Amino acid sequence: MKADVSPDAAEVRRIVELAESFPGVSTEFHQIRGSTRSLTELYLLGSTGGIPTAPFEEFQCVEKVVRITEKFRAIGRHGTDLEAVGFEYNGVQINQDSFHLFPGVCAVDSRENLEATFKALASNGLVTARAGVYKPRTSPYDFQGRGAECLPFVFELAGKHGIRLIAMEITHESHLDEIQEALVASGQPTGVMIQIGTRNAQNFELLKAVGQQTELPVLFKRGMGITLEESLNACEYVASGGNRRIVFCLRGMKTQLGDPHRNFVDFSHVPVVKRLTRLPVCIDPSHSVGSRTQAPDGLLDLFHATAQGVIAGANAVLVDFHPRPDEALCDGPQALLLEELPRLIEDIRIVREAYKARLARVAAPPRKSQKTS
Ligand code: PEP
Ligand code: MN
Repeated sequence: MKADVSPDAAEVRRIVELAESFPGVSTEFHQIRGSTRSLTELYLLGSTGGIPTAPFEEFQCVEKVVRITEKFRAIGRHGTDLEAVGFEYNGVQINQDSFHLFPGVCAVDSRENLEATFKALASNGLVTARAGVYKPRTSPYDFQGRGAECLPFVFELAGKHGIRLIAMEITHESHLDEIQEALVASGQPTGVMIQIGTRNAQNFELLKAVGQQTELPVLFKRGMGITLEESLNACEYVASGGNRRIVFCLRGMKTQLGDPHRNFVDFSHVPVVKRLTRLPVCIDPSHSVGSRTQAPDGLLDLFHATAQGVIAGANAVLVDFHPRPDEALCDGPQALLLEELPRLIEDIRIVREAYKARLARVAAPPRKSQKTS
């Protein structure tokens, strides 16, 4: 529908009647609160192959009639027909053109370490962070995260340091309620983007649960051992449940062919996901690279991998930091130091500028005297 057309409008009701007059066809509304505008979409479900589009195009309030292929019905772009509207949450706009850095601790351990981290973010002008509270660990004997008991101080400190959005993984649907309750109890000083970790990428019940709530946006991490198509279908569970505020995160694939990196870096899929879906794309260099190894040129592999994602048009970077990585209870070896944050920001700025300059060149007509070297 055109911008600001309500599903209750009389003309929209006539469209629904027309659609449902075709045998076996039912309709469903989806509201998308985009970062630049809100969209109302009316879905025709059933065998719609023989239904002509022209009678629908004649309605004044209809912006576009799109024939949807079966694949990725809710998150897909379906050729060039659908725009990627993104979303706005707690004052942060996230879409396929925006860029945000989400540095933070892999796992919250102490109040002191978290405060040092949030303070460093704030002094670098950042309002987006990561903080793991529920940790899915390979061994049951490893630190499992501090869970709900630390949420009050996590939210309090976020509010104190102006953090507007924290990416936070959940491993069970009951964590959704724990987070919502703690946010309300602390006076909503910040916002949470629910992270679905790679190990839960095909936990369909969890995906349905986060999709059925529309309060909190979702950061979906690609499954580490499944195809991209399977991950996109999994993500479709979230969107088809009703929650369209999704960021798709690449975090490397599990294979020994990626050695010596922890996972095989898959950031060349940034433009692929942007082409196939309407979702903003995040990269996680920390869980891809998995260590602080340094290239002979002096840059850490982590910086190189980040740059590879950003030059490809990533919309967000999720990256592990810790004030004292030696003492971190989870993923210390891959954590960057707080004093490295300004350098990472500067490095990303340089690469993002280069990405924008590349875009300006494809948008502009080619210059006659252009050399290819
Ligand atoms: C994480 O971001 O803390 C994490 C566990 O990531 P992944 O699910 O990608 O392994
Ligand atoms: Mn981790």
